[in-house]
Amino acid sequence: MTPPLVNSAAARDIANTLHPYTDLKLHQEVGPMVISRGEGVRVWDENGKGYIESVAGLWCAALGFSNERLVQAATNQMRKLPFYHAFTAKSHEPMIDLAEMLIQRAPVPMSKAFFANSGSEANDTAIKMVWYFNNAVGRPKKKKIIGRIKGYHGITLAAASLTGLPANHRSFDVPLPGFLHTMAPHYYHAGLPGESEEEFATRCADELEKLILAEDPDTVAAMWAEPIMGAGGVILPPKGYFEKIQAVLRKYDVLLVADEVICGFWRTGNYWGSTTLNVQPDILTCAKALSSSFLPISAVLVNERVFQGLADESHKIGTFGHGYTYSGHPVPAAVAVETLKIYDETRIGDHVGDVGPYMQAELRRRFANHPLVGEVRGVGLIGAVELVADKATHKNFDPAHKVGARLVKLTEANGVIGRALPGDALAFSPPLIITRAEIDEMLDAVGKSLDELAVQLR
Ligand code: PLP
Repeated sequence: MTPPLVNSAAARDIANTLHPYTDLKLHQEVGPMVISRGEGVRVWDENGKGYIESVAGLWCAALGFSNERLVQAATNQMRKLPFYHAFTAKSHEPMIDLAEMLIQRAPVPMSKAFFANSGSEANDTAIKMVWYFNNAVGRPKKKKIIGRIKGYHGITLAAASLTGLPANHRSFDVPLPGFLHTMAPHYYHAGLPGESEEEFATRCADELEKLILAEDPDTVAAMWAEPIMGAGGVILPPKGYFEKIQAVLRKYDVLLVADEVICGFWRTGNYWGSTTLNVQPDILTCAKALSSSFLPISAVLVNERVFQGLADESHKIGTFGHGYTYSGHPVPAAVAVETLKIYDETRIGDHVGDVGPYMQAELRRRFANHPLVGEVRGVGLIGAVELVADKATHKNFDPAHKVGARLVKLTEANGVIGRALPGDALAFSPPLIITRAEIDEMLDAVGKSLDELAVQLR
């Protein structure tokens, strides 16, 4: 490996930048991949090599890496009112418009929208709202929060506690007390011999009920779920899962929070993942595609029951003592409003209705029988190809071999930026604007990379 040139962007990165989700020590030797520009579903590195972004960055750049309408929306808003806040009842049109649009588009009746800057902050806010709500309704003991193993809800202290992935817990001294995790609904790995998908779903719901009973239902406040688990491996629940889970939650009056940070805004083929997976949340969090990630913004939607609790408690105290300087910031809010208008006006849902099933069919046709591939899964424009050491037993490769990371190195060499998830699953979550031809090009490169990896592993 040749060291980066003195004063190159890479050398300055190594000297000065501490990267998220990176082996910080190794980075000192290997250095960054510097991305210089983007257009459509592609980005280019500083050497001019182009790549299809198969995960839309971090499952987020839904309209791709260029969009003049979003640039104009940001510029116009910056000229008109570059900043104002929402504390102490101040407001402005972009935030009002966005809240109204989200409430109108919610998958179930929702009452109000609160704004933050990231998915983590939205989930952190929702955790605090759940606690505040239960204090409001006279249940001060009902505070525990249930996440799922392999669930991902972000990395702030509370959101990381809710997340169920070892890399987000190890050495960070989380989860905090009061955060519990129930099993991941991954039939391919956790289904028992002879157990149907529906029986597996029943077992997941039974496990949840046992956990709630063991903890004491009077102490359990809420459960969080991504309709489809993203960062944990693109895990689709078994048939009937959410119906059964929700029956348990209703029985013990445990609130359900749908984390739509990845699934929201057509990713799964419907406007919300909750619609695709039959989830009826009390609270919904969203981010990422909300602004196509051109600027940071996230939202928490609460139903009327939760809102009334928050309203009563804040009235008693005199204020709802929570909010960010940038809650509802007018520039990202204006970009988000424009993003939602683009989704509507370009009928992006119809487009996903065409290219989503095409991508799913092609993933299966090309890769299901590949010697390294155990499971191909997904719906709409989200999917994964999981690599296994043994197709018969579904046994994964030894994580020390970093097989997923090696595949991504190869896809990058072949012109596709990919993302390997825990368990060596290669994720697919391209910009929603991707065409069939671009899907073919992306999957050609992935197929070539898989074959190259198979040779390496021989
Ligand atoms: N929730 C889900 C489902 C996510 O996938 C993510 C990020 O990938 C988050 C929350 C956290 O969002 P952020 O990285 O914006 O804090």
